[in-house]
Amino acid sequence: MKSLISNFERYPLTFGVTPIEYLPRLSEALGGKVDIYAKREDCNSGLALGGNKLRKLEYIVPDALASGADTLVSIGGVQSNHTRMVAATAAKIGMKCVVVQEKWVPHYDAVYDRVGNIQLTRLMGADSRLVNDGFDIGIRDSWQKAIQSVEDAGGKPYAIPAGASVHKYGALGYIGFAEEVIAQEKELGFKFDYIVVCVVTGSTQGGMIVGFANHDRADTVIGIDASGTVEQTREQVTSIVNKTAELVGLGREVREDEIVINPDYAYPAYGVPSEETNEAIRLAAKTEAMITDPVYEGKSMQGLIDLTKKGFFPEGSKVLYAHLGGAPALNGYSYHYKDG
Ligand SMILES: *Cc1c(COP(=O)(O)O)cnc(C)c1O
Repeated sequence: MKSLISNFERYPLTFGVTPIEYLPRLSEALGGKVDIYAKREDCNSGLALGGNKLRKLEYIVPDALASGADTLVSIGGVQSNHTRMVAATAAKIGMKCVVVQEKWVPHYDAVYDRVGNIQLTRLMGADSRLVNDGFDIGIRDSWQKAIQSVEDAGGKPYAIPAGASVHKYGALGYIGFAEEVIAQEKELGFKFDYIVVCVVTGSTQGGMIVGFANHDRADTVIGIDASGTVEQTREQVTSIVNKTAELVGLGREVREDEIVINPDYAYPAYGVPSEETNEAIRLAAKTEAMITDPVYEGKSMQGLIDLTKKGFFPEGSKVLYAHLGGAPALNGYSYHYKDG
């Protein structure tokens, strides 16, 4: 089948195809009835520790370059992986960078705003601006102000929304992910029955849904909400799916029942791990040395573990966990893991 994204320009920021790794010890620890694999988006690039936002940004950079901008402007939480990746992209393509970092998480580690993602963001030369606003995946006033401030200083901003999601090209990268998985399945000689992915701002899962809808298997993509505001996230995924399907000429509507988002693991709040999240992080680390974080991948790992234990995946299923990155945030949560 023809690629949906071959007509769109891509600026390489990643190494290319990401590896799919079998996780035998984790599969065994969960009862051995389901085979668990991971697609390592967390190892996708040499740029500042990589992650899913780079796969999205590869399709946004050509538009930024064509616009004649000199400054990338974006927004996220204090420990945002996304703003780290925007700062990395700006450094790599020789642009300036302004990132607004909101107080999305009630945090208590003394060095929360100095280590991990924000440390790397500053190291790469981004102008990181801390503001006091709380969690919201929508378009923010502070971001509009940052864009204006670049203009007022005589610069030319290129605006990238939170998570690079509500951008016309934001979901193209993860259509590429779906097409890549399908090509890898041919080499492996089997198909994955389910794909488990963390969802917050929506274009990662949204892109996957459009890519897999082209093969009528979008409903095998199980989104695990980590936003704690699942209705807003579901609305945003739906809107991204509809706009992106139109943009790439999918040729049909994606139905509501093809968009699967599980709300059960986001508690107690965005950016705050539950005891079950922490146990999931420990299990993945102890069985496979696979490092997940308390904001995103720890919650999707918790979902993967719980759904497997509950028998949600029929015996013999092959489940692909999309590891989207995020480990640098662990540094901001040292207190939780002081005893392992
Ligand atoms: C941004 C991010 C997500 C969520 O992806 P969205 O496209 O915002 O839904 C999940 N995991 C990590 C590590 C992220 O950085």
